[in-house]
Amino acid sequence: MSTAAGLRPSRESRAARVRRARQIDRLLTEAFPDAHCELDFANPFQLLIATVLSAQTTDRQVNTVTPVLFARYPDARHLAEADLADLETTVRPTGFFRQKARALRGIGSALLERFDGEVPASMDELVTMPGVGRKTANVVLGNAFAVPGFPVDTHVTRLANRLGWVDTRDPAAIESELTALFPDDLWTMASHRLVFQGRYVCHAKRPACDECAVVLLCPSAHKFGA
Ligand code: SF4
Repeated sequence: MSTAAGLRPSRESRAARVRRARQIDRLLTEAFPDAHCELDFANPFQLLIATVLSAQTTDRQVNTVTPVLFARYPDARHLAEADLADLETTVRPTGFFRQKARALRGIGSALLERFDGEVPASMDELVTMPGVGRKTANVVLGNAFAVPGFPVDTHVTRLANRLGWVDTRDPAAIESELTALFPDDLWTMASHRLVFQGRYVCHAKRPACDECAVVLLCPSAHKFGA
């Protein structure tokens, strides 16, 4: 195994990078055997709504709001007909509540008018709805429909850069590189493992490199937060 000190992503061959990525994913599988989507949901509609609400806040915070939200608005029709002020009050603890409430009501209308009230299982259709970008669509595809998707959130962005897979914060470019590094049957779970790594070990300000399962494969080991 290479040492972190010897890793130079700019000189790494494509084959070596793919090999290192798979090794990292195997080690993260051992480190986080229970990695999963931490949003609570019971169906594609609930996951779509919870994921839209998760922008700029934590999954834990979203999970405190969704039981009440889903009781009041159990489906697309209820959401489409929601009183905006009521909806804003319900989602307020997740932040950006005005934009989020408008997006949710818009999603309810879009589902009702264009998709018979059902969440579509395709990227092209999901991203036509208000507040739904590729990250949200990939979360829904991978976790509600078992369609491979590689959501790129703030943790995945940080990890992909620190691990030397990309040198960009552009989500589309990161998704493109990650989906090339891993086979599609790994995308959803590899994304969960990177999110867990970012949440619990490779923190933005002070990564816990001494406790990191992939320290020997990381070109950024001990370079941040000292
Ligand atoms: S915790 Fe340190 S060694 Fe582990 S991935 Fe983050 S920067 Fe690299």
